Amino acid sequence: MSSGEEAVILDIQRMSTEDGPGLRTTVFFKGCNLACPWCHNPESISQKSDLNWFTHKCIGCRICETACPQKGITRGEQGLRFDRARCLACGTCVNECPNGAIELKGKPMGVEKLFRELVKDRNYFGADGGVTLSGGEVMIQHEAACALAKLLKEAGVSVAIDTAGCYDFHVLEDILPYIDLVLYDIKIFDREAHKRITKADNRVIMENYERLMKNGTRVWVRTPVIEGATDSEENIAAIGNFILRAGLPEKWELCSFNNLCRDKYDRLDMQWDYRDTALTQKAHIEKLTEIAKQYAPCAEYSGTVEEGGR
Ligand code: SF4
Ligand code: SF4
Repeated sequence: MSSGEEAVILDIQRMSTEDGPGLRTTVFFKGCNLACPWCHNPESISQKSDLNWFTHKCIGCRICETACPQKGITRGEQGLRFDRARCLACGTCVNECPNGAIELKGKPMGVEKLFRELVKDRNYFGADGGVTLSGGEVMIQHEAACALAKLLKEAGVSVAIDTAGCYDFHVLEDILPYIDLVLYDIKIFDREAHKRITKADNRVIMENYERLMKNGTRVWVRTPVIEGATDSEENIAAIGNFILRAGLPEKWELCSFNNLCRDKYDRLDMQWDYRDTALTQKAHIEKLTEIAKQYAPCAEYSGTVEEGGR
C-alpha cells in the first residue's frame, strides 16, 4: 500500500446524504465481484472504462466511425454500434465527436491526486460527514482504497466504506484502522438463492460480518428491497435473526428499489430485466421494516416509495 497507487474511478459525487451520516463526498470505484441483476450502477460493474453513447446528442455525422483506430464503431439499424470487446478506451471518438455524444466513464487516477480532490470538500463535512468509498466493490481495489483512506484519516477526514463483504477478511483488516464506518450489504440470507441470483457465495459475507462485530467496528447494514429477489418476509426475518445472533449494527437500512438507472443501461447497450419494475410499495416496505424491527430495533427504510398497498 502506498500513496503512489492508482485507482480506477467511475465518479465523485458531492453533497451526498445517502452514503452514511452527514454530508458526504462519495467516490465510486470501478469493478464488482457480484452480479446482482438489479444493479443500480451498471457503469461500475466492469473495472475497465466504459463507453456511453448519448443518442439524443448524436447528429449522425459518423466522424467517430472513421476515427476509431480499432474499427470498433459501425452504424446499424438502431444507430451506432460499439464493439466493446475491441475498444481500448483510447478516447479518440470522445475527442472527435463534435457534439459530446460519447463519454468514457471510468479512468485511472493517482491516489495522491484523488486525495487532494477530496480534501477540498472538508469544510462542508461538519461533525458527522466525510468521504465514503463506494463502488462497484471498492475492496476489489483494496490497495488503492487503503492508501486513500490512510491519507484522509491523517488529514482528519472521517472515512466510510460501502461494501458487499465478499472477499477474504484480511482485505478488510487492512483498511479498518483508517475508517470510521462500514456500510455493509446483506442482500439474501439463503445461500443457494444468493448464489443463484448474485453468482456469489454468501458464506464469506456472513463470516466477515461476524468478524466485524467481534472487532467492535461501527457498521450500518443495508438490504436492497428487490421484488422477487430480496423482498420476501422470510428473507428479511432470516437476515434479522442472523444479525441478532452475530451482533446488531448501529443501523439496518432497507433500501427501496427504483428504476431511474434504466438510461444508464441503454447508454451501455445492456439489457436490464428490472427496467419496467415499479417502485417499492410503501405498505410493503413498511411491513418488511416492522418484521426487521422485531430482530433489530435499529431497522428503518430509505429511498423513494410508491404510496399504496400490496
Ligand atoms: S475509445 Fe477508442 S477504441 Fe474505443 S470506440 Fe472510441 S475510438 Fe474506438
Ligand atoms: S461523432 Fe458523435 S455525433 Fe457524430 S456519429 Fe459519432 S457519436 Fe454521433
